[in-house]
Amino acid sequence: MTEAKGYAAASATAALGPFTFERRDLGEKDVQFEIEYCGVCHSDLHQVRNEWSGTVYPIVPGHEIVGRVIQVGSGVTKFKTGDLVGVGCLVDSCCACDNCDRGLEQFCRNGATGTYNAKDKRSGGVTYGGYSNQIVVDEHFVLSISDKLPLDAVAPLLCAGITTYSPLRHWKVGKGHKVGVLGLGGLVHMAVKFAASFGAEVTVLSTSPGKEADAIKLGAHHFALTKNPEQVKALANLFDFIIDTVSAPHDYNMYLRMLNTDGVMICVGVPPKPTEITGFNLLNNRRSIAGSSIGGLPETQEMLDYCAEHNIVSDIELIDIANINEAYERMLKGDVKYRFVIDMKTLV
Ligand code: NAP
Ligand code: ZN
Repeated sequence: MTEAKGYAAASATAALGPFTFERRDLGEKDVQFEIEYCGVCHSDLHQVRNEWSGTVYPIVPGHEIVGRVIQVGSGVTKFKTGDLVGVGCLVDSCCACDNCDRGLEQFCRNGATGTYNAKDKRSGGVTYGGYSNQIVVDEHFVLSISDKLPLDAVAPLLCAGITTYSPLRHWKVGKGHKVGVLGLGGLVHMAVKFAASFGAEVTVLSTSPGKEADAIKLGAHHFALTKNPEQVKALANLFDFIIDTVSAPHDYNMYLRMLNTDGVMICVGVPPKPTEITGFNLLNNRRSIAGSSIGGLPETQEMLDYCAEHNIVSDIELIDIANINEAYERMLKGDVKYRFVIDMKTLV
């Protein structure tokens, strides 16, 4: 075991603070790397505050992790000391079921292991995430990172990036499609970049009037304020796809009515409470509602390579780890431009 330093929360109401714990000994297929940056996802906040229930404390969050390899096990073939690498939301799966075979490790029949707050099948304990100085992960779950892009701005690609890239690819979104992206935070700012890069016509749907200029700067073609009934009315039956990333309870019906014939509303946001949907909003225009969860390992690597080729990174605010609790409060107010990333050098 090696000692690791990190930041953890001791309960749903406690602030995050310094925490010391242990990483497992390096296994044959393991890669150990020093974490340089870790993005801050709204899922971290949901789980720290037990909004999805079942959080195991202390919790060390963080699943947008990038850094440099310090050691590899004897059986590792993909990486060597000094390589730039990343880890997203998954650190383990059975690697034998049909979904794992298809590169859909997030849907492993035997249960994928989340990067934090998950039962660790190898150590018997609980997984601890990237708000820490180092991590040990099986090479299958480690991604290769290009040195062409700024490393701090790459970190959010490991969750916000793949979570939006994957559904856009799955539903083959591109030229000729009108796409609405809902909730301009970490996920949507990446959805805008990818959807525009794939050739779609992108509208940001937001509750924040102050985000219009940024939406356009990020690559969106239009912006609509969802608190303005006139603007909402003008969007009726318009979109082929809506990607809904909203983290809080909201009226799905209002957005379903914006879908054109055969339109699909793809939900990736996970509000803490269930929602009601009126049947008529689905049967009109033969609409559907769907979901998508992060992405498997091959697609995550494909997304990272696409970003390196097309010069796509996240727009970030780099923070000291001591400011993480303040960052959570700002995230709750929708006040992030557009992803906080922790500079792990500030973990002392
Ligand atoms: P975020 O940065 O906090 O962005 C969420 C945005 O939603 C806010 O910026 C705000 O945008 C909007 N919003 C917030 N409260 C709202 C409300 N009451 N009504 C309408 N809009 C509201 O969060 P994120 O990191 O992008 O994550 C978003 C959600 O996706 C979270 O629930 C997270 O757990 C989930 N997630 C899912 C996956 C997956 O695999 N499916 C992966 C990662 C994250 P405006 O100011 O523009 O309205
Ligand atoms: Zn996330």
